[in-house]
Amino acid sequence: MALRRKLIAGNWKMNGLRADGLALAEAIAARAKSGTPRCDLLVCPPATILAAVGAVISGSGVALGGQDCASAEKGAFTGDVSAEMLRDAGCTHVILGHCERRHGHDESDAQVHAKVAAAWRTGLVAILCVGETRTEREVGREVAVVASQLAGSIPEGATPDKLVIAYEPVWAIGTGLTPTLDDIASIHRTIRGIVPQNTRILYGGSVNPTNAREILSLADVDGGLIGGASLKPDDFWAIAEACP
Ligand code: PEP
Repeated sequence: MALRRKLIAGNWKMNGLRADGLALAEAIAARAKSGTPRCDLLVCPPATILAAVGAVISGSGVALGGQDCASAEKGAFTGDVSAEMLRDAGCTHVILGHCERRHGHDESDAQVHAKVAAAWRTGLVAILCVGETRTEREVGREVAVVASQLAGSIPEGATPDKLVIAYEPVWAIGTGLTPTLDDIASIHRTIRGIVPQNTRILYGGSVNPTNAREILSLADVDGGLIGGASLKPDDFWAIAEACP
């Protein structure tokens, strides 16, 4: 069951120049060192400051993750960052298939599948994001969409030590909207029936210090992927403290 210890992961997205990012990392590391969080903690800064943030959080128990990786190991892929490079910068995790990649950059399940395989090739834990759009939910297709994304994005050989799922309804990201608790519980239960036993399933989408406790207390919610609130150390820490 230790595999399902809650994980609170901060997705900083394209936010933070060096000074901001290091100040944020220092604040989170200081809290992690002085308290005893009931969860694992992860921060995913922009690629440009990964190594510098890694140095700041070293020894604090806070882990480091990337926000995306290429599927290839190396070569003529201008602008891309490989899983090996993330690993070399000190990462243990990488977020893949985030809706801002799937929808903003037209990433297909096949591409996400190849990226998850690349993460595993170098020993990174893949945090695989899935979730339906507003229209898909309105027509009742959320389960079909999520099941199809899982089927298309997870390579053979998945185990709970190298795969984390983040259920992130696209319409809940950065909007202040969240599904009902019953809806979150229901879709997490469905995902639980699809992925390997004991795989951590995070919820993401407008989690904040006010709604965190009830979401994180649901039986099949093993933590949160936090966007906006992860940029405020007090809020990120309050969410971590809301883990039951
Ligand atoms: C996200 O982008 O992964 C996310 C969950 O964002 P927010 O918390 O801001 O909705």
